[in-house]
Amino acid sequence: MSGAPQPLRVAVVTGTRAEFGLLAPVMRAVRAHEGLTLQTIVCGAHLLPPTETWREVERAFGIDARVEMQRPGEIGRLHDARALGRGVAGMADAIERLRPDWVVVLGDRVEALAGAAAASVGGVATAHIHGGDVAEGVADEAMRHAITKLSHLHLAASEQSARRITRMGERPEHVRITGSPALDGLYSVVPMDDDAYARLGSPRALVLMHPIGRDDAAEQRDTRAVLEGVASMQLASLALHPNYDAGRDGVLRAIELSGVRAIGHLPRPAFLSLLSRLARDEGVLVGNSSCALIEAGAMRPALAAVDIGPRQAGRERASNVVHASDVSAKAVASAINAAHAIDLSRVKSPYGDGRAGERIAAALAAVDPRDPKLLRKRHAD
Ligand code: UDP
Repeated sequence: MSGAPQPLRVAVVTGTRAEFGLLAPVMRAVRAHEGLTLQTIVCGAHLLPPTETWREVERAFGIDARVEMQRPGEIGRLHDARALGRGVAGMADAIERLRPDWVVVLGDRVEALAGAAAASVGGVATAHIHGGDVAEGVADEAMRHAITKLSHLHLAASEQSARRITRMGERPEHVRITGSPALDGLYSVVPMDDDAYARLGSPRALVLMHPIGRDDAAEQRDTRAVLEGVASMQLASLALHPNYDAGRDGVLRAIELSGVRAIGHLPRPAFLSLLSRLARDEGVLVGNSSCALIEAGAMRPALAAVDIGPRQAGRERASNVVHASDVSAKAVASAINAAHAIDLSRVKSPYGDGRAGERIAAALAAVDPRDPKLLRKRHAD
């Protein structure tokens, strides 16, 4: 046979709204690359009611395979373990049917681990985005590093993350520093317009607290303290609902009992335009979401943020973030005061320049997914 080589099939695994927001620019860049064909595997929390965020994936890219993992109402670590098992099995079926040349996963969640495990055990080249990050307070750091060890190509978001990946014994020639795709498209985001902003209650503080793997009562206590701290500053606030992790119900209960305005989820474009509006109007982001460190620090101007508790500990951050290690209303209030005093014109993000998607697509096209030196992993020493 002669002629141009067939495009490589790249199956991107997406399991949650959070990671889909980061994967979307990668998926767009893969779709736009003439040497690559995009396939989508939608799984995990995307498929759960009530948010059913798989619809966002379907609208933007279509869906090639669905893999059910978690079950509605079954939240907890052992439920996650069972979901992982279902995910590995379902992912193997999807991979068998779609026959991708690459499987791409991002982050540290069970959905990414299921995709990496099925692909890697199944002998398919696996690429991992955002490996090597640390977030010391998250129970699932083991999963991020396990995904690194299962993966063949590492697309690191920062220099420090790339260094950690090689320290784990991965070969430097299989590690690329691409920057974080969370920054892609950020510089064309416009601040939310007055009508949409008013519909959200014109918040000056956006609160996004995720559980950190404890029981509901402990999570409820922390979120309550945070909301009391924000309320004591007399700031109009909006709370977003947390991820589907153990302790979620506790966070939700605290939000409900506080009476603060809350919504389940904003599609990423609206979410970013809200961050941009808050940045312009000297608002503040409060909670323990990665977006305080990644997106908020890269906006121009940057958005001041208060990062609470251990969830993001150890992760690189710019000077837009004030950390409150003590989870009390008082500590949160004084951290908000400190955040308002930051010189936001001097913030420099460690997460790249907003062109990660195209770099990732270029790497997938340039590296031969059948190269035995790639597929037969050996510790680099
Ligand atoms: N996000 C969104 N809409 C929301 C909340 C979050 O689009 O209502 C996206 C946003 O892209 C953000 C990402 O989710 O950057 C990660 O935030 P989240 O706090 O959900 O996750 P974490 O990475 O801290 O687990």
